[in-house]
Amino acid sequence: MPNQSLTSNITLVLFHNDLRVTDNATLSKAANLSSNGQLLLVYAPSLTDTLDKKVSQQVYHYDTMGQARQRFLSESLAALDASLMQLGNKLLYLQNNVATSDTFTQLNELIQQQSVTDICVSQTADYNQNQVYKCLQEQNPQVCWHVQTTATLFDKLPLDELPKSFTAFRKKTESNYDLLQAKEDIVNCPTPKSLPPMPENLRDSHEYFFAAQAFNEPSQQPPDWKGGEKSGLEHLDAYFDSDAPSIYKTTRNALDDWTHSTKLSAWLANGSLSVNMVLNRLRRYERDIIANESTYWIWFELLWREYFYWYAIAHQQKLFWFKGIAQHLPPTQFDHKRLAQWKNGTTQYPIVNACMNQLKSTGYMSNRGRQLVASCLVHELGLDWRYGAIYFEQQLIDYDVASNWGNWQYLAGVGADPRGCRQFNLNKQTQQYDPNGEFIRKWQGEV
Ligand SMILES: Cc1cc2nc3c(=O)[nH]c(=O)nc-3n(C[C@H](O)[C@H](O)[C@H](O)COP(=O)(O)OP(=O)(O)OC[C@H]3O[C@@H](n4cnc5c(N)ncnc54)[C@H](O)[C@@H]3O)c2cc1C
Repeated sequence: MPNQSLTSNITLVLFHNDLRVTDNATLSKAANLSSNGQLLLVYAPSLTDTLDKKVSQQVYHYDTMGQARQRFLSESLAALDASLMQLGNKLLYLQNNVATSDTFTQLNELIQQQSVTDICVSQTADYNQNQVYKCLQEQNPQVCWHVQTTATLFDKLPLDELPKSFTAFRKKTESNYDLLQAKEDIVNCPTPKSLPPMPENLRDSHEYFFAAQAFNEPSQQPPDWKGGEKSGLEHLDAYFDSDAPSIYKTTRNALDDWTHSTKLSAWLANGSLSVNMVLNRLRRYERDIIANESTYWIWFELLWREYFYWYAIAHQQKLFWFKGIAQHLPPTQFDHKRLAQWKNGTTQYPIVNACMNQLKSTGYMSNRGRQLVASCLVHELGLDWRYGAIYFEQQLIDYDVASNWGNWQYLAGVGADPRGCRQFNLNKQTQQYDPNGEFIRKWQGEV
């Protein structure tokens, strides 16, 4: 006898930064829950817009998503849709239509019209996204929520409390749970062999079906940097099939080269790639090829990502506060003209201009570049760091709320940096990282 509550189960997966079918605990959970029922697989962009206007004035909003970021997201969603179709279902995409209704309202209506019984989401460090979940829960108290961890190496904060500095976090985590050295690989969540169908009344409703966006401008991104799970997995293999990981520590600070750092960030950020799979691939490289300081350093950087995730969860809306988690206000302000110069790459600092031009064209900037332009914004231009963070949010194809806002706080001296504030000497840095001016010429940094 089938369980009565399962036969009437209508489950909705709300994708956010978990745009994959492999090692996706949220999708697996939903497939199990709805095995005798029906399954709605939904992506709703701009969900937090409504909330920002209504509730939160703390987040400075931006106008539109940069072209490169939009392209990467659109490719990622198209790939997810294709994978879901192979499994017997399809992605439902809620259009943000100002003339009719916002995506929050549409989602709420969908939940009610379809009599959704269960909602599955991945845990997120995004404070505003969590506020949206709260509102949905309040408006639909009959629905049962299921939250899975899909974005991090650890299911929960691996320590009793979050240390104030990354170094303390790393040392404690490594001594308690050294996943790099552990005997066994992390076990991936099995991919469902097939998915239950969507409700019948939605099957012909083209209103909701995802259509990949067309982009008129040619992309300046390397062609390998294509959104989607398949491209992410191909890149993961290509990187670890090369010698690059064995020299990562000596090359990672370079300003511009595809192989000088892993370039995994964009797939990790929107969840096209599982960080567990990245770690397992790194461990395999250490077993089969070489384990050295460079391979250790890839793990070290993944721990930074982990640290900022738990930092964002711990500090919630303080992630967006001018004074951050510190007790003092930075001595900076808002100046429209200087901000425009920074964004448009027309400051008096060629290295900064080149980095900003690279960002606008490709949606990517190296970690060193990000540190230099952030230092310039705060120290040389004396600007409120949050405008820099918002501009990054708009442009970066690897935008991640925790890594972005956490790093900005760190550099502005209002975050997790025990040294307080870091100013980079831009001349010295130019000498060190672009001694022949190649990078500056390529990205037209001289005004
Ligand atoms: C001001 C500022 C803003 C940033 N914003 C973001 C962001 O929105 N999204 C993002 O993913 N990273 C961000 N970073 C961190 C870092 O610059 C990028 O992760 C990195 O440059 C991506 O390139 P990669 O994949 O080749 O990194 P690699 O050097 O190959 O590192 C491997 C992985 O480790 C993680 N990682 C590396 N450095 C950091 C770091 N400092 N903090 C957190 N995780 C890290 C990333 O997931 C990265 O893919 C920011 C750094 C600064 C200084």
